[in-house]
Amino acid sequence: MNGDFLIVGAGFFGSVCAERLASKGKKVLILEKRNHIGGNSWSEPDQETGIEVHTYGSHIFHTDNLKVWEYINRFTQFNNYRHTVWTTFKDKVYSMPINLGTINAYYKLQLKPHEVSAFLEEERKNEYYEQPGNLEEQAISLIGRPLYEAFIRGYTVKQWGKDPRELPAEIIQRLPVRHSYNSRYFSDPFEGIPLEGYGKLFQRLHDHPNIEVQLNTDWLDVREIYLGKWPILYTGAVDQFFDHKYGRLEWRSIELNREVYDMPDYQGCSVMNYAEADVPYTRIHEFKHFHPERPSTNRTVIYKEYSKIIGESTEPYYPVNTLRNAELLKRYKADADQLKRVWFGGRLGGYRYLDMDDTIAAALEFVETTDLFD
Ligand code: FAD
Ligand code: UDP
Repeated sequence: MNGDFLIVGAGFFGSVCAERLASKGKKVLILEKRNHIGGNSWSEPDQETGIEVHTYGSHIFHTDNLKVWEYINRFTQFNNYRHTVWTTFKDKVYSMPINLGTINAYYKLQLKPHEVSAFLEEERKNEYYEQPGNLEEQAISLIGRPLYEAFIRGYTVKQWGKDPRELPAEIIQRLPVRHSYNSRYFSDPFEGIPLEGYGKLFQRLHDHPNIEVQLNTDWLDVREIYLGKWPILYTGAVDQFFDHKYGRLEWRSIELNREVYDMPDYQGCSVMNYAEADVPYTRIHEFKHFHPERPSTNRTVIYKEYSKIIGESTEPYYPVNTLRNAELLKRYKADADQLKRVWFGGRLGGYRYLDMDDTIAAALEFVETTDLFD
């Protein structure tokens, strides 16, 4: 193809940039190393049961960004799914994030919302950190040690493979603590799952005569053809682009093990967390609950999620926010800034955790504000 622009990676960042550029009359070639588009947000019907499964773990679209919401609604309708998560600790099930229901069930109390602050204050009396320096100190300063030990410590150790005292406080700031029985996981005004799945959404994003996608094509195998000749947006891992010359950025990865059951409902919700460190998996995803609007079936498919610190062959999922990785990233960024007509974007290119809506917002801004064809 004679194109104007090369994009490496067909996830949200690459696909939204391709759609925007194509709509402006530019010819875009996308190289994708996997055998499907959509990156980690991909979903497709399970071959055995027909149930829409999120191949790389549950993906719930939620945003407070009206511009992103209006943009993405041009390519899909969303259902009315509202995400709730439950967590199992010592054979009992509690609401997660921690809300009034969790607190009352755990302490066997009947607190009212106006009593929660004073109760937690009392819990934190013996241990409180004015300026929390790590995840453990942050969590204890929010909810006190007993709730931390029950619902956060074991889960976090499993998820990150590190002691929470070695992890940054920010990770836990993502989790709200609610003084009511509101059990919604997210607080954004817009939320849902694409009615026809993420796969269809990505097909529509790519459905333009100016966009060509080459699947099963790894940048590393073809880069000589394009480097220095085409303007390039690279949404793969930034350290990989430079052949890991300063060392590897660490990623936490996950492994998802599929099981099929001959029953209409395995666990009664889409995501059940397991708080105890000695249960080997962190959570179980049951995908049919993401589509309450679809007719019920007699079978169900679940994925058990295990955390992995990355080895050479596992997929990168979450950046690991340590000083070593931050220093390494600075060196790669400095090299990236030296390159002419090569840009880096998305979660892998920027080595940062980005939700789907933030990825789309960043892609829209990238195309709007960057001079790509000077
Ligand atoms: P990706 O989706 O990773 O796309 C990058 C693409 O580049 C991939 O397809 C990859 O194969 C390709 N690529 C990489 N290297 C090469 C190469 N050398 N050559 C060719 N192609 C290459 N966000 C939410 O908003 N809600 C959620 O509920 C949610 N749940 C999540 C759950 C998990 C387990 C994870 C890990 C993330 C979750 N996210 C969620 C975040 C979401 O996955 C990201 O926002 C999104 O994937 C970012 O898109 P991207 O294009 O930056 O990266
Ligand atoms: N977390 C926890 N217990 C839970 C759920 C989350 O301790 O039941 C902590 C954990 O450290 C996790 C962080 O809260 O990394 C953020 O949770 P979130 O669900 O946002 O993480 P995700 O897996 O979706 O990135």
